[in-house]
Amino acid sequence: MIQANSPNLKSWIEVESGSDFPIQNLPFGIFKTKYLTPVAGVAIGKYVLDLVYLHENGFLDGLGLPPGIFNQQYLNDFLKLGRKKGREVRERISQLLRHDNDELKANPAAREIALIPMQEVQMQLPVRIPNYTDFYSSEEHATNVGSMFRDPKNALLPNWKHLPVGYHGRTSSIVVSGTSIHRPKGQIKLPDSDQPVFSPSRKMDFELEVAFVTCTDSRLGQSITTTEAEEHIFGMVLFNDWSARDIQQWEYVPLGPFLGKNFGSTISPWIVTLDALEPFRTASPQQNPEVLPYLRFQGEKNFDIMLEVFLQSEKSEPVTISRSNFKYMYWNINQQLAHHTINGCNIQVGDLYASGTISGPSPGSYGSLLELTLNGTKPLTLPDGSKRTFIEDNDTIIMKGHCEKNGVRIGFGNCVGKILPSL
Ligand code: MN
Repeated sequence: MIQANSPNLKSWIEVESGSDFPIQNLPFGIFKTKYLTPVAGVAIGKYVLDLVYLHENGFLDGLGLPPGIFNQQYLNDFLKLGRKKGREVRERISQLLRHDNDELKANPAAREIALIPMQEVQMQLPVRIPNYTDFYSSEEHATNVGSMFRDPKNALLPNWKHLPVGYHGRTSSIVVSGTSIHRPKGQIKLPDSDQPVFSPSRKMDFELEVAFVTCTDSRLGQSITTTEAEEHIFGMVLFNDWSARDIQQWEYVPLGPFLGKNFGSTISPWIVTLDALEPFRTASPQQNPEVLPYLRFQGEKNFDIMLEVFLQSEKSEPVTISRSNFKYMYWNINQQLAHHTINGCNIQVGDLYASGTISGPSPGSYGSLLELTLNGTKPLTLPDGSKRTFIEDNDTIIMKGHCEKNGVRIGFGNCVGKILPSL
């Protein structure tokens, strides 16, 4: 058992019940303040713990950390130290924050500098992302979309239950939570015409996803097995894969998503480690037909992460429009990484691998407006009486995720983005 995950741990820092960041979480991120350039930190309650200060003042001595490892704009070099080093650092931070540890607690001068209230920080992208892949691993989502875009009788294509379908996305437009996105323009084919028009998207959508971040550079030609996969995965973030459905539908055959997707994707700023997620493992859905040997796996490889999507219009408070769970994923992260590298494709530190839209079995658990409103034919009604088929200008989409078990609740923080009018 990882000591830092013990449900018995309490911190001397007050953490409100329902907080995403109790002592059992300790996710890593990059933050800046009015006075600090971007540096690494750990979230605890309503504070960010400054890892540069801790490192430079001897609180992390004995861990063999390279000088300046946290004094960087991105976490890539820290991630590259590997899962084991990440675990040691998290264990040490957990020790420093325990209610019966005085090292930092009894040093008011150090506490004052090391702990920064969250409202005083601006979170940054946590990693420089060399590569981004988006999978399509929720059976419910693939079935719903296949029914609407193609044929309800053959919603899943013949390959779907044999391999985790995915495509290569674009990293340059991945932004951190809180960054607004302008409604994209592009080619759209309206139903009553054979010719496309050029227009701002009329079917602006979100996709509720979770993404994992890798912490190794593998060799070109090397494959990673399902058993080895987790040694290459540092942790996870929430991911909103914004989608312009009308642009997507016209462009996507035969080579897949392009401009309907690459104008922006939003991630939550804190990387929740696989170590912190350990107590929340759960079984995956049964896979039938049986998969090829390189995709078989042992043990519980899925995670019970409750997910929620809110829509906030200019006039209304945030309202829940979907509740889903990461555990519905048909293909797990080990299988995704094994499949991705089975041909010898190499991975890099900081790569982002998104799950694909996570839809559950019931309509209230669908992970996109495309599914929630049946491609715009069944509008949602907001508390202010207004209707939504797709996202309107100045609407904000907020995604949240958390795990809960044995009295411990850990969360991801928010993944927020506002859609502004087209430029
Ligand atoms: Mn997606």
